[in-house]
Amino acid sequence: MRAAHFNPYPISQDNFMHLSLLLQKFFGLSRKSRIVSASALLLTLCAFGAAGFAPMAPDAADLPVKAITEELQLPNVADQLADGEGPEQTYINEEKIRPGDSLASLLTRLGVDDDAAAAFIKSDRTAHDALQLKAGKTVQAQVNEDGELKWLTTLVADNGDLPEKSLVISRSSNGFKASEAPARLERRLEMHSGDIKSSLFAATDTAQIPDSVASQIVDMFSTDIDFASDLRRGDHFEVVYETFWQNGEFVRPGRVLAGEFTNAGTTYQSVWYQEPGSNQGSYYGVDGRSLKKAFLKSPIAFTRISSGFSMRLHPILGIWKQHKGVDFAAPAGTPIHASGDGVVDFVGQQNGYGNVVVLKHWSNYSTAYGHMSRFAPKLRKGMRVSQGDIIGYVGMTGWATGPHLHYEFRINQEPRDPMTVHIPNAQPLAASELQRFKTVAADMTHRFALLMADRKTTQVASR
Ligand SMILES: [Zn+2]
Repeated sequence: MRAAHFNPYPISQDNFMHLSLLLQKFFGLSRKSRIVSASALLLTLCAFGAAGFAPMAPDAADLPVKAITEELQLPNVADQLADGEGPEQTYINEEKIRPGDSLASLLTRLGVDDDAAAAFIKSDRTAHDALQLKAGKTVQAQVNEDGELKWLTTLVADNGDLPEKSLVISRSSNGFKASEAPARLERRLEMHSGDIKSSLFAATDTAQIPDSVASQIVDMFSTDIDFASDLRRGDHFEVVYETFWQNGEFVRPGRVLAGEFTNAGTTYQSVWYQEPGSNQGSYYGVDGRSLKKAFLKSPIAFTRISSGFSMRLHPILGIWKQHKGVDFAAPAGTPIHASGDGVVDFVGQQNGYGNVVVLKHWSNYSTAYGHMSRFAPKLRKGMRVSQGDIIGYVGMTGWATGPHLHYEFRINQEPRDPMTVHIPNAQPLAASELQRFKTVAADMTHRFALLMADRKTTQVASR
């Protein structure tokens, strides 16, 4: 009988490993990133859970959640007492691949002393391809006391892509098998703050905030702040965003969920909100006002205005007439996008306009798109379209001397110049959504207050 078989803790080795990895990950964070404090993170995680953040980001919520609640198996005393016949002891080891590692040296450090396993990894294509010996990569393995491999796992990155797959090599009754599975990503929320000294990107670099998060900060505040010309020294920001991890390894940043930006003394706040059951979300001010512009400036990408909204000698009629829209020159076939969310009010031909689509938007706004070569397939009157959806293609049907889009922006049926008219923000949240949104927003403002308080303490302390 071996003393080791008396397990005083009613927790399996696997469970213990999970727990210690979790704790490591948790407390390791403060080193890796400028998390305000572990307790603040805990608060954040709890609060987000309670506030029901999951519906706002179904993409993240759909990810498999790592279950750490397993049934605890009570040690079987009979097994333990049976001389030498106790349950097998196993260990999970984790190692980072070092520069110059060979498969043999890596396996040795992982405690694997198993010729069959080594031979399998060398000969199996999936295993061999996936387990590239790239320095810095983490590999985990479970072995028994004799060094026999039970399983081995690592994240797989294809050609520099984000590692979203795992390789699992496991022992079964008839030898080893290697398989790839979607990585079980763990979602975390991070809170960071930064001070503007020169540019936003310099500040986010200093705060170790990923570039994709910095770009999202620009997007979320672009209705209020021109990041190219408005930034001042002394401006500062706070941001909450998702990150995805696996086995303590950072995989990728996710969406910015909330942000606060103080520019020249004025503080702007923005919160991501997605209505339950919807797959599209948007940023809102804490009052529920949408921060998205209701209409795109141009329904086609990369174009030039060939004729503005003004009096002009009509190119076909040869008389002076008010041009009631803006012409965008573009090659025939260029996709035309709905400039705002709306419903198709007309799709068909109208003499001068040729093939034309009219969209009715919320309130009293409508837009018209003329001279199309063809409509988007299946576009029908009464159909809902979202901002950016393709509704047709540039052509020269109707009265046109060359391929271009004739674009009209109408308020109460009256054409207005889309280049100078005040473009409203997108529709605010409906009253029914506003209450739910306010709970989320209040939680965020509370978090920013905590972050700000912590920032001030840090600044005082560093003087
Ligand atoms: Zn025109």
